[in-house]
Amino acid sequence: MNEEFAALQPAVFRQLKNTLKHQRLSHAYLFEGDAGTGKRAAAQWLAQAFLCLDPQPDGSPCGVCANCRRIAAGEHPDVQTVAPSGLSIKVEQIRQVKRELSKAGMESAKKVIVIESCDKMSASAANSLLKFIEEPLFEVLIVFETDHLAQVLPTIRSRCQILHFLPLAPAKLEARLVKEDVSPEAARVLAHLGVSFAAAVELSKQEWFNEARNVVPHWVKLLEKNDPQAFVYVQEKLVKLFSDRPSQEIALDLVLYALGQVFSASLTGGKAQIAKAQIAKANEQRLCILNAKNKLAANVNFQGILEQAAIEILTDHK
Ligand SMILES: [Zn+2]
Repeated sequence: MNEEFAALQPAVFRQLKNTLKHQRLSHAYLFEGDAGTGKRAAAQWLAQAFLCLDPQPDGSPCGVCANCRRIAAGEHPDVQTVAPSGLSIKVEQIRQVKRELSKAGMESAKKVIVIESCDKMSASAANSLLKFIEEPLFEVLIVFETDHLAQVLPTIRSRCQILHFLPLAPAKLEARLVKEDVSPEAARVLAHLGVSFAAAVELSKQEWFNEARNVVPHWVKLLEKNDPQAFVYVQEKLVKLFSDRPSQEIALDLVLYALGQVFSASLTGGKAQIAKAQIAKANEQRLCILNAKNKLAANVNFQGILEQAAIEILTDHK
C-alpha cells in the first residue's frame, strides 16, 4: 500500500511524511480527488502511521508490526470505515461506529475513522462525528474521502486539512485500468482521453466505445491514404456510432489520439530526419480536429463537423 500511495500521489505522500516527521498530524483530513487516484491507499497508510507499534525514525509506519498488518488486512478494531448506506451516510451509522470504537477501547486510546464518499453525509451525521474529535477519552484521526469536493458540507471542510489528489498521468492511469481488468488495448486508449479513472472504467464497458476503438483509427487511415471513402464513412459509420453529445466528444478525442499514433509510427519508421512538411501536416490535422471540438461545443451539427474535417484533411494531401 505504501508503494501504491507513493507511486500514485508523490506530492501528497511527501507532504504527509513531512507532517509525521514533525509530529504535526491533524485530527481530521479531507482527501479530495477523482476515484482511483489513491485516496484509499493513502488513508490506510495514514492509519498505519497513527497506530504503528514500531514507527520508523521519520514517523512512517513500519508496515510489519501487528497493527500495520491488521490495518492492511482491514481487520483492526480501532480502525472503522463508513460508506454510504443507500443514498447517504446516516447518523445511525456514525453512532454504530462510535459504539464499535468504544468497545474496542481496550486495544488503545487511539481511534481512526475513514469516511468514504463523505459528500453523501447528512448534516446530523457530520455533527455527531465531528464531536468525536473532542472526546477526551480517545485520540481520534478522521479521514474523509470524496470525489466531489464542492458537495462536501462546509462544517466538514472547515474542520479538515484538505489534501488534493491529482488526476493520474496517462501511464499511471493505464496501469491502474489494467489492474481493474480493463483490456490493455482499451486501457492505453482510455488513458489518453483526459477522462477520470471512474469515467474510463465506465467507458470500457460500453459496446459503442469498444467498437469506436476500431472505427476511428480506420477513418484516420482512410484520411491518411487520401481515400475519398473517408467522406462517406462519416455518414455510414461515425454518425451512427456516436449518437449523442458525450460520445461525440469522445469521438473527437479518439481522432486526436489516432492521429497522434499515426504520427508516432511515422517517427519510429527509422528515418533520422523528419521532414518538416510531415510535422507541419500533423500540426494542421491536429488543429483541424481541435477546431472541430470547438464547433461541437458551440452546438454545430456533428456530421457537418466531421465532413468538413474530412474535406480539409483530404485537400491537405493535394
Ligand atoms: Zn507498524
